[in-house]
Amino acid sequence: MTGLLEIGGAGGAPPAAAPIGVTCRGLVYIYRLEGYDVVALSGVDLDIAPGQSVALVGPSGSGKSTLLSLLAGLLPPAAGRLRVGEHDLVKAGPAELQRMRAGDVGVVLQGSERNLLPYLTAEQNVRFAQRGAPAGRVRPAAREVLRLVGLADAARVRPADLAPGGRQRLALAVGLANRPGLLLADEPTSQLDAAARDEVLAALAGAHRAGTTVVLVTHDPDVARTMDRVVTIRDGRVGAEGRSGEDYSVLGRDGSLHLPPELAAALGPGALLRVQPQPDGTLLLVPVEAPLEER
Ligand code: ADP
Ligand code: MG
Repeated sequence: MTGLLEIGGAGGAPPAAAPIGVTCRGLVYIYRLEGYDVVALSGVDLDIAPGQSVALVGPSGSGKSTLLSLLAGLLPPAAGRLRVGEHDLVKAGPAELQRMRAGDVGVVLQGSERNLLPYLTAEQNVRFAQRGAPAGRVRPAAREVLRLVGLADAARVRPADLAPGGRQRLALAVGLANRPGLLLADEPTSQLDAAARDEVLAALAGAHRAGTTVVLVTHDPDVARTMDRVVTIRDGRVGAEGRSGEDYSVLGRDGSLHLPPELAAALGPGALLRVQPQPDGTLLLVPVEAPLEER
């Protein structure tokens, strides 16, 4: 198979690095402007298992892009804990962050052109992204990476001569250039028609099938539905987990359970809940009168 037919096919794809997981605890980020601060993230708790695909959705200005930038090591956490694979991003210095982005984590910023050098061909753009790969890493052939996103036949084409969907897939190829264990993509399908959007999604699905953890920001519910999980960001926090229109809570690695924010607010911090497994397999959480602090 060649060209577009190869989109989404993991067969023959260059092997990805081991999938990478993410842990955020109480993650805070503040933009410090002259005269005032903008609290963009105000305590994000989120676990992403290696190999998962996650859509971050939520209103404009809710902090999705900021969260993605923190996961990419492009912005430093102001408070909280953040682990990306083996990297502790609170402690990591510039050299480690650089190494992380050059090998383990691929980043696709919003707007394909921000990821591409206009005077280089598609193949040269991928090669350019590979130049910082850590020593000892097996570097896939640029053509193989292009094949992964369905651009095998466009190796010599410059970004301006690609259709918008092709340009966005080239931006994905740049993010995938070193076959990272985690791919972060900010609104990779916005401003594309349905056909181009589906090509980008097929390319993402191919990377995911090959084992890469995928975190993507999107406004498009149809795009969000193609991911394993949909996490809503609201006012700088994780709002609800939705799957098939229902709210879910996710059990953290440490056994902690984050309830939907409305419920958590109504119960109040320290609320004591009796956990009662039911015969039918459901779980009943029964609020007990006195909050924990008073016991
Ligand atoms: P989203 O991607 O969900 O639209 P952002 O992460 O871009 O949200 O923004 C979160 C908040 O941080 C918003 O209030 C936004 O105005 C603010 N913000 C984002 N980028 C900057 C910046 N470079 N300087 C100051 N404030 C910013
Ligand atoms: Mg954004």
